Amino acid sequence: MSRFWSDVTRRLTPYVPGEQPRHERLIKLNTNESPYPPSPAVVAAVQQIESDALRRYPDPESARLRQAFADYHGLHPDQVFLGNGSDEVLAHVFQGLLQQQRPLLFPDITYSFYPVWCELYGIRYERVPLGADFSIDTSAFARPNGGIIVPNPNAPTGLLLSLAQIRALVAANPDSVVVIDEAYIDFGGESAITLINDFDNLLVVQTLSKSRALAGLRVGVAFGQAALIDGLQRVKNSFNSYPLDAVAQAAVLASLADEDWFRECCDRVIASRERLTRGLEALGFSVLPSAANFILASPGNDRDTGALFLALREQGIIVRYFDKPRIAGYLRITVGTDAQCDALLDALPALL
Ligand code: PMP
Repeated sequence: MSRFWSDVTRRLTPYVPGEQPRHERLIKLNTNESPYPPSPAVVAAVQQIESDALRRYPDPESARLRQAFADYHGLHPDQVFLGNGSDEVLAHVFQGLLQQQRPLLFPDITYSFYPVWCELYGIRYERVPLGADFSIDTSAFARPNGGIIVPNPNAPTGLLLSLAQIRALVAANPDSVVVIDEAYIDFGGESAITLINDFDNLLVVQTLSKSRALAGLRVGVAFGQAALIDGLQRVKNSFNSYPLDAVAQAAVLASLADEDWFRECCDRVIASRERLTRGLEALGFSVLPSAANFILASPGNDRDTGALFLALREQGIIVRYFDKPRIAGYLRITVGTDAQCDALLDALPALL
């Protein structure tokens, strides 16, 4: 600690992301990246970037990219906001839209960055308890609030809310911004983007890090009515008016244009998820029904899941363990290729 730290800095608990080992040959099932590469068209687009495009500042409005996202979803470009990963988009959302007099609500087990941003921006918040089966009860959000944020599917449970449930939540809170964090929606959920034109209080946030295999590029996107997006644009321009670099803009345009590749990779992950789930259940695990590219699985019988996590690490397989109430008995496992999932299933019996 330095005596120059502000009060805010003193209060901050830095968020610790999943391990990103650099030099080891590991089966990496810990941070929900895609096990498949991005479309070859993306790699070609990056390779073909002209040096002049690197010399110049990128388009600060990302006009072509916003138009491409708008066309993809049947929206207008002024309903699209871009940032360096959905983490940055969400940080702008917290600062620009969720700093209200009343507390922000989010599920009591959810993406662990939300309380970090609340600390950073001085936002009061309340956690809304999950059901005994980890499900989100949308009616439990019926209390005074200055905003609601819910991942759908939730993380790290993988449980999905239906579009009807999301619609009801947004409709029941007309005076609050309701943010649906759809980082994992492409693995079996129905996006709330289709509701954007019906509700001026709905903001949908997505990432290209998971289903589009572009975590290394850092691209996130938000969709909402123009007035909400304009608010985010003001916050962004006060930080850094060039959120997406020229390489990312070119790569994402190519990704959006290759729908077949995108669908096929999602379908393969979904098929592997079901296979992995059955394999773990055959070993005695209980597995929450996931609509994401990860599963939350418990070996049960009061086994020491932290020790199991370390034992797998010794074998070169890294998954995620959260030393937190309610989920300490579980491992979060990213769905890899079938070969990676098999390596995990083969390693487990000796460790159980
Ligand atoms: N939201 C949720 C629920 C996540 O799990 C993640 C990934 N850790 C993010 C947002 C952020 O993803 P990114 O910054 O890579 O877009």
